[in-house]
Amino acid sequence: MSLLVVGSVAFDAIQTPFHEAERVLGGAAMYFAVAASFFTRVNLVGVVGDDFTEKDADIFRRRRIDTKGLERAPGKTFFWAGKYSADFNDRTTLTTDLNVFATFNPKLPEAYRTTPYIFLANIDPTLQRSVLQQVSRRPKLVALDTMNYWIERTPAELRETLKHVQVLLINDTETRQLSSEHNLLRAAAKIRTMGPRTLVIKRGEFGALLVHNDSVFAIPGFPLDEVQDPTGAGDTFAGGFMGYLASAGRQDVATLRRAMVYGSVLGSFTCERFGPERLRMLTRSEINARARRFSKLTQFAL
Ligand code: AMP
Repeated sequence: MSLLVVGSVAFDAIQTPFHEAERVLGGAAMYFAVAASFFTRVNLVGVVGDDFTEKDADIFRRRRIDTKGLERAPGKTFFWAGKYSADFNDRTTLTTDLNVFATFNPKLPEAYRTTPYIFLANIDPTLQRSVLQQVSRRPKLVALDTMNYWIERTPAELRETLKHVQVLLINDTETRQLSSEHNLLRAAAKIRTMGPRTLVIKRGEFGALLVHNDSVFAIPGFPLDEVQDPTGAGDTFAGGFMGYLASAGRQDVATLRRAMVYGSVLGSFTCERFGPERLRMLTRSEINARARRFSKLTQFAL
């Protein structure tokens, strides 16, 4: 089944302990769409400026990504700059230039309005809600990502939007911030009273937790012998997770657990190269092979 994503398409400047890149393709919706397209058809809603060339748009071609919903506006594309700590576990935002994103008001093309699976990437919670108001058929599943910026500045709007969402994907720090609870399980229980019955808590290289009804599932991060750039790993995780769910067409616990593994597998590939470079050359058979290795990695007898 098809999957709709709304969010940022960006140019990023990235500094890691070993390397710097001044301008690579980025944005949550870009990473998400490319990852999810390995599993299902993706409808992309976002905005780019007039500095976004045909060559930049190449990443969406020859994939199952529909870009009718990718608006082109006069001005510059959203720009984000970030710097990683020596161990890659902390990231500081150096610059956020909203540019054309500042006046973005997502409009769903007619053909997107019945998309059964929806992912609201990290944008203003009011805009996330406006996307839901434009759908003409009740979606099968709505998932959302957010960040500290919205948790701090627009808490009431975020709470309202959460009421309409079944799955929340956020990182551990944001989980604690949103719930005002340090313990992640207590935090998850509190967040589940806000709307989403399923929580995916991303923990960077330490893996991810799935809290669904009364069950908890934990997976490690896939051990990598080379990490170049973790930018986009969270969005790629979300793309693998949601892409797999949309392709399966159901969300029972066993399917959700497999989706966690595909999310982690996709996220791990992103870290191996700068920006989306590893994703560009990734194949479905590499994904399947890593998922099998993942299964071996976590198997044990009692
Ligand atoms: P991740 O590493 O998964 O958190 O995603 C990083 C991506 O998010 C980068 O490619 C950025 O362009 C994008 N990004 C950073 N800040 C924002 C923001 N405030 N709103 C939307 N997208 C953002």
